[in-house]
Amino acid sequence: MYVGIDVGGTAIKAGVVDENGSIIARGSVDSQPGSGAEMVRLMYVAMCHALDRGMISRDRVTAVGIGSSGLCDNEKGTMVYSPNIAYDNTPVREYFTERMDVRVDLDNDANCAAAGEYVVAGEGRGSFVFVTLGTGVGGGIIIDGKLLRGVNGGAGELGHTTVYPGGRLCGCGRRGCWEAYASVSGLINDARERGGWFAAQSEITGRTPFEGAAAGIPEAVEVRDRWIENVAMGVCNLVNVFQPDRLVIGGAISKEGENLLAPIRKFVSENAYTRGIPGLKRTEITAARLGNDAGIVGAAFLHKIH
Ligand SMILES: [Zn+2]
Repeated sequence: MYVGIDVGGTAIKAGVVDENGSIIARGSVDSQPGSGAEMVRLMYVAMCHALDRGMISRDRVTAVGIGSSGLCDNEKGTMVYSPNIAYDNTPVREYFTERMDVRVDLDNDANCAAAGEYVVAGEGRGSFVFVTLGTGVGGGIIIDGKLLRGVNGGAGELGHTTVYPGGRLCGCGRRGCWEAYASVSGLINDARERGGWFAAQSEITGRTPFEGAAAGIPEAVEVRDRWIENVAMGVCNLVNVFQPDRLVIGGAISKEGENLLAPIRKFVSENAYTRGIPGLKRTEITAARLGNDAGIVGAAFLHKIH
């Protein structure tokens, strides 16, 4: 039995998770983002609530995982920094292990989501790339069961690979990053720049180009298809670099399902380095499965990738 704790700016949510990724019991407490020490105590309280609700004793829990935005040091077991929470190297693992005999892992949201999808969609085997398309483009890379961390622990910044030198300005301050094109923000920018039918819409979200395209609006088809091609180009780069068994696309936009996935698969099969060679295994490209519970389930499975 595992416990996953998803730490957010307004609530700390905990869940008792079984081997299949099902949440058996849940607990939640309000966040107090002012103090790191108080936040850790509340993480523990949220876990206790979940265990109490499920009438599960603490000694049945073999691993606790904690996911938070910002920077976590899993080696030291501390929360280092978060934009909204004053962590300041707060010892987290210690707080838990002083109170129960358990393995504790911590990591950021993106790596938690990657861990969750790796176990649920990738069956916890082989090499795996998780790409999340949202306000930005993030993700995680798992090679033979281990998260790729890099020399500073910051590997997996998939969105900040340059795809158009001198192109659109990215949030990171550089130009032409994949994120500036393949994020949902990029898609909304594409739609605004295109104008026409889009200019007549009261609000433009990531769904607007997909809805317009489904209704046969030419500008929407154009914007949607170009955006998908930009996503697919980056996905193809990842397939060439890592040749993973599976690549999972997450973020709310992944709910577009086959409208998004089928053209990406087509692009990759036509453009990947190994295209046209018969008899080779192909990277399976699928949509994320965990949805709203990705934070809890992913945190619970952190021990599988560390
Ligand atoms: Zn960038």
